[in-house]
Amino acid sequence: MLRMTKFGGSSLADANQFHKVKAILEADKSRQFVVPSAPGKRFSADEKITDLLYLCQSKRQAGEDFGPTFDLIRERYLEIESDLGLSCGMDRELTAIARAIENNASADYAASRGEYLNGILLAAFLGWTFMDANELICFHDDGTYDDETTQLWSSVLEGRSGVVVPGFYGRKRDGSIRTFSRGGSDITGAIIARAVRADVYENWTDVSGFLMADPRIVENPRVIDTVTYSELRELSYMGATVLHEDAIFPVRKAKIPIQVRNTNEPEVAGTMIVPDARADKTNTRPLTGVAGRKGFTILTVTKDNMHNEIGFGYRLLRVIARNNITFEHVPSGIDTMSLVVHNAQLEGKLETVLDQIRRECDVRRPIEISTGVALIATVGKGMVRSKGVAARLFSALYGADVNIRVIDQGSSEMNIIVGVEDKDFETAIRAIYKAFA
Ligand code: ASP
Repeated sequence: MLRMTKFGGSSLADANQFHKVKAILEADKSRQFVVPSAPGKRFSADEKITDLLYLCQSKRQAGEDFGPTFDLIRERYLEIESDLGLSCGMDRELTAIARAIENNASADYAASRGEYLNGILLAAFLGWTFMDANELICFHDDGTYDDETTQLWSSVLEGRSGVVVPGFYGRKRDGSIRTFSRGGSDITGAIIARAVRADVYENWTDVSGFLMADPRIVENPRVIDTVTYSELRELSYMGATVLHEDAIFPVRKAKIPIQVRNTNEPEVAGTMIVPDARADKTNTRPLTGVAGRKGFTILTVTKDNMHNEIGFGYRLLRVIARNNITFEHVPSGIDTMSLVVHNAQLEGKLETVLDQIRRECDVRRPIEISTGVALIATVGKGMVRSKGVAARLFSALYGADVNIRVIDQGSSEMNIIVGVEDKDFETAIRAIYKAFA
């Protein structure tokens, strides 16, 4: 058994958090690889080191004095170093970084130093080997991630133990540092998990896993214990904040499960994200999670005898595509076809789109436009195996006096999507959660 662990910024925000991380690593010898983020917030009004580094670099570029901002960074690292009783050259490293920023280092270089320094500190504290991410992770010249070369470079990790690799960055072939997008240490973690052929990718953060519903809407929602990659995709698409797709593709491809865990509550198992085929077949719990988004518009096009007309749908969608619009759903009836589109997609284009639909699809009847629609996805693999899920869902909404505007059951039967009025969004989410949780 081999576990690759990634610790987020709040898990490594100060010396006290470093102690928790060490205890977690020492509690299980199968944890031999760790990817740290840069120190995050210690309290809600605190600054993240990454933000401060970006700020220093942009101040320098604007010709402003970045010294006072850099001092905040310096203090944070020196404090952690001394609180942990280490002397691993932080002061020297920090001076070199300040000089590089002074000499117009790139924003990517500056930002990457947060993880770099934290990696050095953590390796010294654990007595493990520090391996710089710029030797392991490669980017193309145009700045996009180069997976092929990375697989080659990172394969040197296989069979090693006790290694710290800083998250968030790698390098281009010309040697310059390049970062992933914000939050990118998750991606590094996934890459390293694949490289070392880990059995589990543990993603340690400050929450005890993913919640079944948005806690701002549902009071104390339960934690999802197991979720498949596809369910997670549905939930995150619908607005639930979960790991970014980019952050999971290397492990998803390698079929390595991800376990999201809380550094401050290590006794809690958290949420396990598993490959679709490994979903527990005996699990008949219908609901994995419920999530949704507001702000959709429904365009309903009606044309007599539409269902006999070859190519009507094609012509309708061709208008949508030509105007660079993505659509969410296309519920249809005998002589009607509706398009569910997010408002942002239609901005400044509505009149043109309506005009083109009328002309190209030869539509004479008025096109109905309903705005202010919220979509809610009730997601769960177990739905396929349980009877009466739809009945439960719709009676819950009826019981909460919510009017349903659209219904769409994905053909995978992994979710049922309903469209309700924006004003009913929260009531509907609460009713659905209560009906299943
Ligand atoms: N430190 C970086 C950020 O704040 C990367 C990460 O934490 O994953 O975005």
